[in-house]
Amino acid sequence: MAFAPKPGVLEIAPYVGGRASVPGVVAPIKLSSNEGALGPSPKALAAYTAATCDVSIYPEGSAQILREAVGAAYGLDPARIVCGNGSDELLTLIANAYLRPGDEVLFGEHSFLVYKIAALANSGVPVSVKEKDRRVDVDAMLAAVTPKTKLVYLANPANPTGTYLPFDEVKRLHAGLSPDTLLVLDAAYAEFVRRNDYDAGIALCLKHDNVVMTRTFSKVYGLAGLRVGWALVSPAVADVLNRIRMPFNVSIPAQRAGAAAMSDHDHLQAALDHNTLWRDRLTAAIRGLGLAVDDSVTNFLLIRFPGTPGKTAAEADRYLCEHGLILRGMAAYGLPESLRLTIGPADACEKFLQVLTAFMARP
Ligand code: PMP
Repeated sequence: MAFAPKPGVLEIAPYVGGRASVPGVVAPIKLSSNEGALGPSPKALAAYTAATCDVSIYPEGSAQILREAVGAAYGLDPARIVCGNGSDELLTLIANAYLRPGDEVLFGEHSFLVYKIAALANSGVPVSVKEKDRRVDVDAMLAAVTPKTKLVYLANPANPTGTYLPFDEVKRLHAGLSPDTLLVLDAAYAEFVRRNDYDAGIALCLKHDNVVMTRTFSKVYGLAGLRVGWALVSPAVADVLNRIRMPFNVSIPAQRAGAAAMSDHDHLQAALDHNTLWRDRLTAAIRGLGLAVDDSVTNFLLIRFPGTPGKTAAEADRYLCEHGLILRGMAAYGLPESLRLTIGPADACEKFLQVLTAFMARP
């Protein structure tokens, strides 16, 4: 067939992000994409606005300003940092660079959908590995490894489950992989984790060429609309990614806003405190209504509905939408009886609890 795409491409279900609107509902509250509840730091906004006067010239192509800021913030060599148009771009670039047709790509069964898309877009074979109680199961992952396994994506914390894999388990996974397999630690929600073993992931990247970590400014830093993320990689992987990334993949306003966001420690702390307060309150209140929620280390909660008539996730989703609240249905993640709730601003959390309580009280 003329103009047939590469094998795998037509198997891709296009990624559909969290809805932002509902027909007939004016100004709904969007709690569907895990954006930061407090929005960006005023310093990031000021840097963004100041940089818009530069829009007639190309940005510096390697995002040097941002790489240096990340390097300074984490004590890393900026030459090991590659910036991207969101961490989505970096997760995809890695697959573009390393996958050959037929190579296998491992990820947990309820993983972020971009891993499967990146595999199929490169004619790779996505291998979805069974999880245990919505947690990545390292034994099952290791049992799924074959000589064709080229990439392993591990979101830690995981989306959409909000669960966390202790570092010893990450290390055990890495130890079971061949040096020819790349372990991608997707750390989009890293900042929310209050575990002192977290920095060990960075140390693992620095020690082993076959481990990389991706990060984003979309979540706790509240800059999802700017599309900016970074990856910590070995010098060899940086060289490869820099050959194939788009020449000017991060705009100047995004580079400057990202760098400024990291300098506002008070805003970061306020966002983390808000998140902890509301995560605990919401978890307790939702459980109090008889619904199941896993302990989350992130800025979102996976709520499991009983699935009985009148109490299905689809009915809850409809009811919440009618009352101006947009959550994320989880059928595409293999969790059809779950909705994912982003921890939003305080008034949004309060309204959510009111509406959910009313839903559960219906006959
Ligand atoms: N990884 C995970 C686990 C995510 O949940 C997301 C956002 N939904 C991303 C990566 C991508 O984030 P971004 O492209 O906005 O940096």
